[in-house]
Amino acid sequence: MEQLQKRKTRIIATLGPATDSEEKIGELIARGVDIFRFNMSHGSPDWIRRTSAFVRAQSRRFGRSVGLLLDTQGPAIRTGDLANRLELHPGDIFTFTVRGDPSVDERSVSVNYDDLAQDLRVGDVVLVDNGVIQMKVLEKQGFRVRCEVVTPGVMGSRRHINLPGVRVNLPPLTKKDLQDIDLGVECQMDYFALSFVREANDVDLLRQILIARGSKAIIVAKIEDQAAVQNLPQILDAADAIMIARGDLGIECPFEELPIIQRRIVKSCLQKMKPVIVATHLLESMTQNPVPTRAEITDIANAVYEQADALMLSGETAAGRYPLECVSVLDRVIRRTERSGGAGYAAFAELTEDQQKLASAAVHLADQVRAAAICVFTRQGKLAAVVAGLRPRYSPIYALSGEEDLCGRLLLRYGTEPIPSRYPMTQEEGISLAEEELRKRGAISSGDKVILLSEVPLRGERARSVVFYQVE
Ligand code: PGA
Ligand code: MN
Repeated sequence: MEQLQKRKTRIIATLGPATDSEEKIGELIARGVDIFRFNMSHGSPDWIRRTSAFVRAQSRRFGRSVGLLLDTQGPAIRTGDLANRLELHPGDIFTFTVRGDPSVDERSVSVNYDDLAQDLRVGDVVLVDNGVIQMKVLEKQGFRVRCEVVTPGVMGSRRHINLPGVRVNLPPLTKKDLQDIDLGVECQMDYFALSFVREANDVDLLRQILIARGSKAIIVAKIEDQAAVQNLPQILDAADAIMIARGDLGIECPFEELPIIQRRIVKSCLQKMKPVIVATHLLESMTQNPVPTRAEITDIANAVYEQADALMLSGETAAGRYPLECVSVLDRVIRRTERSGGAGYAAFAELTEDQQKLASAAVHLADQVRAAAICVFTRQGKLAAVVAGLRPRYSPIYALSGEEDLCGRLLLRYGTEPIPSRYPMTQEEGISLAEEELRKRGAISSGDKVILLSEVPLRGERARSVVFYQVE
């Protein structure tokens, strides 16, 4: 009998006040979360230390690898503190001040970006709080920018500001980012997400820092403004993975471009066999409501159809009222959509190395014989990554990896279950090792077809091999 098909698309959930107890984290894992995200725009170092330890403890309790992702704040423009929340109406005047210019009146707030007045021109649009409040620049007076409110909204403290199309003159990694990265290395994060990446250089910079700190973490470049979209090919080469950060991207670009940009990025990632995350607003309405909207269900299904590696929940699980329900809704829609097939962009994967061509042959074989499992023995995760990148149609991938911390870094890969294991010395040993692990998990039964990829010595040579066999 065919068992419940394993979910291939990974689920990332952001932790926050709604989900920071060890018990809640355990429940999130039970419902299917694969990777937890720490958003460094919120959360103190002690909170990160404590909560990441909860994740490790619960991961051990479940006997399942769970990944940790630290998401930097990046060069984001933010307002400072406001004594009282302010209701803004169309036509109101509001002033932004920089470089410590004392507030003109109570209808003003400081901004962390010194060049704000320099970069803006009269008539430009300033978007506050995820684009909710739109303002138009009326006048620049030294270190002040006077704006007219266009759309109503409530102005609070530390709000995010977007300046669509403006090349913001902030360093790719701020002082806060550098401290947060150190904290992330200390807490052994498997992934570092780099916010507002503008060019490949930004990624290289983080790479150097991680290497110097001895971290092998995966670098996820967040594509969230026009510069990143333009420089995508170079950023894709430099980064290990990509996040389509639709929250900011949908503000920084004309919103009708968003679905097209999303599809283009997913396609590019599949072409280069790099993991891709679709993020933000997947279940936004569930921050307040126990059920999703039809549009949200359809959006999730679309991302699954495109065969992204992972879908990410943000405020829904960090601060929403129904974090557990959100994970279950995501799991349910993903499973159903995966059964109906995908867009097949993996057919355009650029296979340049022999190893990739061998993996491609193995995936074709697995699709044709409907293999119950593709087992990959992998030292650094490369072979397993290629197999996942090629999107096997039915077969789950089991990545048997020698290093235990490699398991966390493989979790972002589509359809891949990492299993800690030693690397076999012979083909025979490989088959026995794989079979033992698969049986333990109830993943195979008598008559099932299994495909095994490894690089164990054969006739004294280091030879790559694909073994195809049927379980007795
Ligand atoms: P953020 O990034 O949640 O850190 O802003 C994601 C996005 O912009 O979609
Ligand atoms: Mn963002």
